[in-house]
Amino acid sequence: MLKDIEILCQLQFLDNKIRIAEKEKERLPKEIEELEKKFNLEQESEKNIKQRLEQNWQQQKKLELEIATNNQDINKYENQLLIVKTNKEYKALNSEITHHKEKNADIEEQLIELLEAESILEKEKKDVIELLTKDKKILEEEKEKINIKIEVLTKEIAQREEEKIELSKKIPDILFRRYQRLIEHKDGKAIASIDNGICSGCHFRLRPQIIVEVAKSDSIIICENCSRILVSPMKSAKEN
Ligand SMILES: [Zn+2]
Repeated sequence: MLKDIEILCQLQFLDNKIRIAEKEKERLPKEIEELEKKFNLEQESEKNIKQRLEQNWQQQKKLELEIATNNQDINKYENQLLIVKTNKEYKALNSEITHHKEKNADIEEQLIELLEAESILEKEKKDVIELLTKDKKILEEEKEKINIKIEVLTKEIAQREEEKIELSKKIPDILFRRYQRLIEHKDGKAIASIDNGICSGCHFRLRPQIIVEVAKSDSIIICENCSRILVSPMKSAKEN
C-alpha cells in the first residue's frame, strides 16, 4: 500500500503543476484585455480631438464668411456715402459702417481664440497619434508573446495529463477514480499532509489514532472532516 500512496503523491504533484499552468493560461489573456482597453481609450481620445478640430474649422469658416459679408456691406455703404444728398442719410450710413466695423473687430477676436484653440488641439492630436503608434506596437508584441506563452502552457498541461494517465495505471482503478473525484471537488487538492496534527486540506485537528495509522502507511486513511487522503509530512515533502 506504501506504493499506492507514493503514486498518489506523484499524481498530486502533477495536478499541482497542471493547476498552476491552467491558472496562468486563464490569467494571460487578461493582460491583453488591459492593453486593448488602454489602446481603445486612446483611439476614443483621438476621435474626440479630431471632432473638436473639425468643429473649430467649421466655426472659423463661418466667421470668415461673416467678415467677408460685413466687408461687402461696408464697401456698399462707403460707395453710397459718395452720392448721399442729406446730412441725415450721411449720418445713418456712417453709423452703419461703424457698426459693421465693430462687428468685424469682435469676430476677429473670436477668430484669434479659435486659432489658439486649434493650435492646442493640433498639438494634442500629434501627441495622441504618437502614443497610438507606440501602444499599437506594444500591443502587437505583447499579443505575440502571450500567445506563445499560452501555447507552451497548453503543451505542458497535455504532457502532464499524459503522465497522469501513465501513473494512474500503476494503482487500482477504483483508487484513481476516488483521487480524481477529490481533485475535482476539493479545490484541486486530493492529498493532504498532516501538519502538527492538523489536516493541511481543511485545518481539522485529527484524532491521534488517525495520525498513528497514517504514519504506519499501511492503508489509505482519509481525513474525517474533508475526506482528503492523508499522508505524513515527510512523504508529502518528498513528493512535492
Ligand atoms: Zn481535512
